[in-house]
Amino acid sequence: MKQRNPTRTVPVGNIKIGGESPIAVQSMAATRTQDIEATVRQLNLIHDAGADLIRIAVDSKADVEALAIIRNYTEDLSINLSVDLQENYRLISDVAPLVEKVRYNPGHLHHHEKEKDIAEKVKFIANTAFENNIALRIGVNCGSVDPILKQKFGKDDVGAMVESALQHAQLLDDLGFDKYVVSLKDSDWQKVLEGNRRFASIRPDIPLHLGVTEAGMPPEGIIKTRVAFEQLISEGIGDTIRVSLTLPFDKKGQEVTVAREILNDIDNGRFRSVPSNFGQGLNIISCPSCSRVENEKFIELAQQVKVMSEYAKDHNLTIAVMGCRVNGPGETDDADIGMWCGPLGVNLKRGEELIGHFGYDDVLGETKKILDEMINEIEPVKQI
Ligand code: SF4
Repeated sequence: MKQRNPTRTVPVGNIKIGGESPIAVQSMAATRTQDIEATVRQLNLIHDAGADLIRIAVDSKADVEALAIIRNYTEDLSINLSVDLQENYRLISDVAPLVEKVRYNPGHLHHHEKEKDIAEKVKFIANTAFENNIALRIGVNCGSVDPILKQKFGKDDVGAMVESALQHAQLLDDLGFDKYVVSLKDSDWQKVLEGNRRFASIRPDIPLHLGVTEAGMPPEGIIKTRVAFEQLISEGIGDTIRVSLTLPFDKKGQEVTVAREILNDIDNGRFRSVPSNFGQGLNIISCPSCSRVENEKFIELAQQVKVMSEYAKDHNLTIAVMGCRVNGPGETDDADIGMWCGPLGVNLKRGEELIGHFGYDDVLGETKKILDEMINEIEPVKQI
C-alpha cells in the first residue's frame, strides 16, 4: 500500500480530517429535518454506529429553526454536524453557528442571483465559515456539475468535475481559507476513481472525501463502493469516506458499519477481487435519501425496481431511482430509465424523454413496459 498523500489537516469539531489523522467515517440523516424527533433518533442511531461526522440537509429557514433545536438535543453527545447546502447558499449565515462543517456544491451556485459572480458567492461562504470557525467541503457531483464547464468539457464529464473542484479550491486558496476538503462523486465507481486520481495528482495537499454517490442498495451498492475505496485508499488517496446506501431509515447505521469494515479490511490487506466484466449488465442506482425525500415509499420503490428488473440483468442498462424533485431530474440524466419521486407520484423518463408522472402503484408497470422495449433493442452481454 502506498503512503497516504501528505494532505493538510482540517479540524472539524472534535475530529481532524487529513494529514496523519485516521480516515474519518461520515453518514447523513435521511429523515425530514423538520421532523425533529425522527431526525434526533436518526442522529443517535448513526452516532451509535460509530460515525465521526453526520450531515443534515437544510434548504429553508424552517429547516434552520429545526436544526437549532436538533443541535440542542445532541449537544451532550458531541456529535459533529455538517450541513448540506443546496441552491440557497446564503443560508450558510444561519447554519454556520450551529454546525462544524458545511458542504456546498459548486454546480448549484449558478441557480440563485444569476447576475452575481461565482467568486463573490464563494467569498461570502468562506467569510462566513471563517467567522464561525467551521470547515467547508467543496462537494462536486458529476451529475450536477457547473453548466459552463459541462458545456466546455462535453463528453469528458470527469474532466468537468475535476476542473470545477480545482477552480473552487483555487478560489478558497486565493481568499486565504484553507479549512476545506474536496469531494468528487458519481454513481459510476470508475468515474469516482478517475476523478479522484486526476484531482489528487494535481492537488495532493487537499484532503479528499471519497464516496460513490447513489450507489444503490446492498449488496450491489456496497460492492461498487468497496471496489472504489480499496483502489483509491491503497493508492494513498482519501481522508474521509461516506458509504451511500438506499436503506430504511432505521437501518441507516449500516452505512457506518460497512465503511468501518471496508477500512478495516484495507488496513489488514484484505482486498476483494472482482471479475474483469464487473459492472457489466443491469446497473441500478438509487440515492441514499435525505431530508428532501417527500414520500418514504421511495425506498420501497427502489427495492421493487430491483426485484422487477431481475430478468434484465444481462443487459447493459442503467435504471436510476432518485428520492426527490430537487436533484432527481439532473441525477437521472445519464440513465436509460430514470425515476424521481414526488409527494404523490413518480416522474418517469426514458433517456432524456419525460414519459409521464405516475402514482406509486402504477409506476412499476410503466417502467416494465419501457424495460421490455429496451431489452428487445439491445443484445445481452456475454457472460464469462
Ligand atoms: S436525490 Fe434528493 S433525496 Fe436523494 S439524496 Fe439527493 S437530494 Fe436527497
